[in-house]
Amino acid sequence: MYDPLVDSTVCQQQPYPTSYWAAHTALKAQPLAVLSHDISTDVVVIGAGYTGLSCATELAAELGREVTVLEANQTAWGCSGRNAGFVLRGTGRLGLAQLAQRYGVDTAQQFHLEYGAALDRVQQMIAMGNIACQAQEAGYLKVAHNAALGKQLPQQADYLQQQFNYPVEYLSPEALRQQYMHNAQAFGAIRFPDCYGVNPLALAHGYADVAQQQGAQLYTGTPVLHWQRTAKGFVVQTPAANIKCNQIILATNAYTANGFYPQLNRASLPVLSSVIVTEPLSVQQLTDANLHHNQLVMDTRALKYYYRKLPDNRLLFGGRSAIYGKDAANPIYPARLLSALKRSFPMLQQLQLAYHWSGWVSVSLDDMPRLCQSEPGVFYAAGYCGSGVSFSSLAGKRLAQLASGVALPPLPIYHSGLKPFPLPQFRRVGQQAYYQWGRFKDRYL
Ligand SMILES: Cc1cc2nc3c(=O)[nH]c(=O)nc-3n(C[C@H](O)[C@H](O)[C@H](O)COP(=O)(O)OP(=O)(O)OC[C@H]3O[C@@H](n4cnc5c(N)ncnc54)[C@H](O)[C@@H]3O)c2cc1C
Repeated sequence: MYDPLVDSTVCQQQPYPTSYWAAHTALKAQPLAVLSHDISTDVVVIGAGYTGLSCATELAAELGREVTVLEANQTAWGCSGRNAGFVLRGTGRLGLAQLAQRYGVDTAQQFHLEYGAALDRVQQMIAMGNIACQAQEAGYLKVAHNAALGKQLPQQADYLQQQFNYPVEYLSPEALRQQYMHNAQAFGAIRFPDCYGVNPLALAHGYADVAQQQGAQLYTGTPVLHWQRTAKGFVVQTPAANIKCNQIILATNAYTANGFYPQLNRASLPVLSSVIVTEPLSVQQLTDANLHHNQLVMDTRALKYYYRKLPDNRLLFGGRSAIYGKDAANPIYPARLLSALKRSFPMLQQLQLAYHWSGWVSVSLDDMPRLCQSEPGVFYAAGYCGSGVSFSSLAGKRLAQLASGVALPPLPIYHSGLKPFPLPQFRRVGQQAYYQWGRFKDRYL
């Protein structure tokens, strides 16, 4: 598997991974639209995931800019076409209480509003394209995985209600069991009312349609190899053609190849996240597990598990995976996810695996993303830390605004680049150590 920390060029013209989404999404037959002749444009956006497509939409629709999106593989071949489809209110790895600790309550409240704007952006894109993305009923359960953490939930829910006017709901272990699931490893939950599940690949293809309807040009199978600054702007080089442009927006996120843009490379740790999807549950299995809802679920582990029931009654279950891309296909990883699922739902011992796939998420040094002008005429957004479906949609819009001179909200993540990792060559050693510590913490603390 392509490994952005190892490979110095992004893979190109690859098919989608063998995911549940690729197998169950009716996509228009779209041959690759490879750029084969030199062109000029105002803005080049590199990467056709949610960030790049939302950015292109804003540039074309609201800011009157001429924009060309270049994607090395297929539309949304990266994370955007292979994620778990959790449309969450947030990004990075810090919750609102942690944001308040780091930046103060006033700034945390601004973050909360901005995260709400990210949900609105997803809705706006869905409405613009009338996108059929199988949006499910709203609700996200943050589940305590041990009793000690479960006891802290009422206070946490109260804090969110009081400080953020966020109408979350505390669910005791018994209420959780009765109303939502017979999960042997759940000790209460907080329910967030405004998050929901979608088909992420359908959503991304809808974004691509919207961007193109608004006038953006999209070329797939067209990797950017590098670019040169000229007296008038930039010349961007692809295998078969060059593009003259005034600005470059990097929306390559975790899929940025090693050395492609060093200041982004050394500030992002690409981490593999893996997902399994089971065979459909029988009526009896659904009853035994009391899974009669489509709420999103994530637990409080350091090495989190997340899961949801899909419209056809399969369970999607995700978590951490291999450290290196070359190990991603090792069957040990889906087997571990399946056994974690069965430890939570011991009544589902007979459940079989149907799909497994992985993708790279960009983890930042301080657990928060950044969106910035990294040098004159060059912009990027990255570092969503595995929580980027809604935020990438807003980040694209904010990038377009930044590149067009529109002032952004005064949030710290919009006013500097990602911080470089110290000793970046040892990032994976650190990751290995973190996983060991996480396993220990999740089991014993
Ligand atoms: C398994 C998994 C599950 C996840 N689940 C969730 C979830 O449920 N909820 C959530 O909020 N987030 C989730 N995420 C994270 C979320 O999917 C990402 O944060 C989001 O999709 C990032 O979108 P993006 O547009 O920034 O990047 P991407 O979608 O990764 O797009 C980057 C694109 O850039 C292209 N590219 C790279 N280099 C070049 C180049 N040189 N030239 C041209 N193109 C290039 C790549 O081919 C790729 O298509 C998950 C991620 C994974 C891997």
